[in-house]
Amino acid sequence: MHLVVLGGSAACPNPGQGCSGYLVLEGDAALLLDCGPGTLPQLLQHISLDTLDAVIISHLHQDHVLDLVPLRYGLKYAPGLRRRRLPIWLPPGGRRYLDELARVVSLGSERSDDFFTETFEIQEYDPRHSLQVRSWSILFHPTRHWVPCWALRIEGRQSTIAYLADTGWDNSLISFAQDVDLLIVEATIPPDVENGAREGHLDAVEAGRLAALARTRHVVLTHYWATPDVPTVVLQATRHFGGHVDLARPGLTITIDGQRGQR
Ligand SMILES: [Zn+2]
Ligand SMILES: [Zn+2]
Repeated sequence: MHLVVLGGSAACPNPGQGCSGYLVLEGDAALLLDCGPGTLPQLLQHISLDTLDAVIISHLHQDHVLDLVPLRYGLKYAPGLRRRRLPIWLPPGGRRYLDELARVVSLGSERSDDFFTETFEIQEYDPRHSLQVRSWSILFHPTRHWVPCWALRIEGRQSTIAYLADTGWDNSLISFAQDVDLLIVEATIPPDVENGAREGHLDAVEAGRLAALARTRHVVLTHYWATPDVPTVVLQATRHFGGHVDLARPGLTITIDGQRGQR
C-alpha cells in the first residue's frame, strides 16, 4: 500500500501546501481521503481522475471538502475523461450539506438540483459498520471535534493505515489505531501554545504520545500551521514516540509493506 500526501495544512492553506487530502494506492486501486482546498492540483500530479475509485470524507469542515467543487467540474467537463459518477462517501448529513453547497456555487448558470449528483454517486456511510472499497476494509470511529468527525482505519491486503482526521485527545483513539503500520495524525496546536482550539485539536507532543500508545511504527504529522515553530513540531512528536516521524508535505509518498513503513 502507498500513501501520497496531497496537503497537510490546517484550516487555511500554508504557502505552497493545500489543506487535508491523502491518496491511498494499492495495486490499481485508488482512494482519496478528504478533498480540502488546494489538494486537487496535487492529486492530478499522481493519478488521472479516471483511475480514482472513491472519495471518503471525514467531516464537513471546509478545509476537508471544498475541492469537491472543482473535482465536480473536472469530472463533468475535463476533456478526455470517461463520463461517470464517482462514488463519494460522506458522513451522515453530508447529502444535505452538498445540496446547500450546490445552491450557492451553481449561481443559476448550472442546475443546482443535480449539480453534484450527475458526477458523484453520493452515499452517506454508517459509521457503525465497515465499508468495503475494492479490497480495502474501512472502519470508522468518532473523534473529539466541534462537528461530527470520523477517524478512518483502512485495512489493506497486507498493511493498515489509520487517519485520525481532526480531533482533540481521546483515549478511545488509541485502541482504534492500535498496531497500524502508518498513522496520520494532526498536530494543529503550535508548540507551547494554549488556545481555544485545544478541545478539538492536538499538538505534536500529544500526536507522538498517541502514536506510542497505539504502538504504530510510522507517523505522519499533519493539519499544522506554517509558523516559525514548524521545525520543532517533529522534534516535539519524538519526545514520546521512538518510531519514524514525517511532517506532511505535498507529494510525500510513503510505501507501507506491512512490516515496517518505509519512505
Ligand atoms: Zn475540522
Ligand atoms: Zn480541519
